[in-house]
Amino acid sequence: MSDKNDFEVVPLRAFRDNYIWTLRNGRYAAVVDPGDAQPVLEYLQHERLELCAILATHHHADHVGGVAELLAQRAVPVYGPRGEPIPTLSHPVSEGDQVEIPQLELRFSVLDIPGHTRAHIAYYGANSLFCGDTLFACGCGRLFEGTAPQMAASLAKLAALPDSTLVYSGHEYTLANIDFARAVEPENEELKARAASEAEKRSRNRPTLPSTIGHEKRTNPFMRCLQPAVIASADKYLGARAGDPVQVFAALRNWKNAY
Ligand code: ZN
Ligand code: FE
Repeated sequence: MSDKNDFEVVPLRAFRDNYIWTLRNGRYAAVVDPGDAQPVLEYLQHERLELCAILATHHHADHVGGVAELLAQRAVPVYGPRGEPIPTLSHPVSEGDQVEIPQLELRFSVLDIPGHTRAHIAYYGANSLFCGDTLFACGCGRLFEGTAPQMAASLAKLAALPDSTLVYSGHEYTLANIDFARAVEPENEELKARAASEAEKRSRNRPTLPSTIGHEKRTNPFMRCLQPAVIASADKYLGARAGDPVQVFAALRNWKNAY
């Protein structure tokens, strides 16, 4: 049912660089990670849409801070990670669960992708992935509650999705991520081309998202920990040999934290 669907995904900007992804079809809309209620309420009113569901990827305030205010306007189901402290959740979910949004004719599978937070989840369906602060265009989230092996495994899980999967991340971090990615892989031709095309989008104040899983596999260093050029750069940063892909990942993550 979710394969051929007319739903549209609209980015609403919040705070400095957050995206609240709004899924709409007909007169209904659902929102992913509404850190702020105001842009959502304005958009719904302007477009005469009725909110039908809220989906949260993790418990950080810039992703769930607007949920209570949205619920005060309209009682809708709130999906989010089982195992994270989000008091407004009505439907705690984890890997293996499905989220049905009948008003939008959409169904998502829930994936556990811990690392940024302890129980971070993604929603996957209709060739689309809503992955919060785990996978960014050319980057990945910081390890606030999880470990490098967890995050590396989460990214590997996402890399196994079809290359055409549209990637909707929680923040517009792309240009800064590309600067770092180019330090890791200066010879990556697709990355060079991407730097130019994403900079052009930002110069027109356009979102660089969605990306695709295929594009990330070819240009995101955190998804390329098996590539010789990436391993060589990680070794250089460490001043020693990274013993395995998780150590390569951990080296990149530490390097980026201070970049
Ligand atoms: Zn976060
Ligand atoms: Fe965030």
